[in-house]
Amino acid sequence: MKTTHRHPSDETLAAYIRGSLDEGRHVLVAAHVELCASCAALVAASDHIAGSILEAAQPAPLRSDALQTALARIDANAAGQERRPAAQNAKGVSFGLNALSSYELGPWRWIGPGVHWRSVSVPADRGARVFMLKAAPGTSLPNHTHTGTELTLILQGAYAHEGGRFGAGDFEEADGTVDHQPVVQPGEECICLVAMEGQLRLLGPLGRVMQPFVRM
Ligand SMILES: [Zn+2]
Repeated sequence: MKTTHRHPSDETLAAYIRGSLDEGRHVLVAAHVELCASCAALVAASDHIAGSILEAAQPAPLRSDALQTALARIDANAAGQERRPAAQNAKGVSFGLNALSSYELGPWRWIGPGVHWRSVSVPADRGARVFMLKAAPGTSLPNHTHTGTELTLILQGAYAHEGGRFGAGDFEEADGTVDHQPVVQPGEECICLVAMEGQLRLLGPLGRVMQPFVRM
């Protein structure tokens, strides 16, 4: 696992740690944390602090099997948190990400020149819709506006816009005021995981082609 260059905002990471993000945004941050050493360390540290606070608040006498129970729990956590090399395997159904393993990915659908889209079966009734976009090198992704936040995690390849370059593992967080038009960098296809909240309006000719799909 490497340290990526771009991370969720402090606010978003704190909400993730508290468990107060909607499911779609939670999936995006969880997937980034699997790919990012520094965010994983922050999450682990806050889990540790929360555990210490709980222990301090419960001065109950230890049961005789308390140590065994605690050790078993640590083993179980270690097994569950085993991190796989992700974002490397374009053929892998869920990119080896635990955060995506319980969701179904739809087939890739062509939605415009050089651009494919696929659904991710995160229930969207209470928050952000989640989907993947795949775009060929050199493709300009459609200009768009939205009323809520948009979280993007780059799984493969890279794109760039006025805000800089975003590569595999990087996380981009945009609100409705941001008006970026990413261009996929040369080399390989760029695959992104996106959680989008609120009403989306795609602009321009490519946007008009894609609009019916992203409403799904
Ligand atoms: Zn990070």
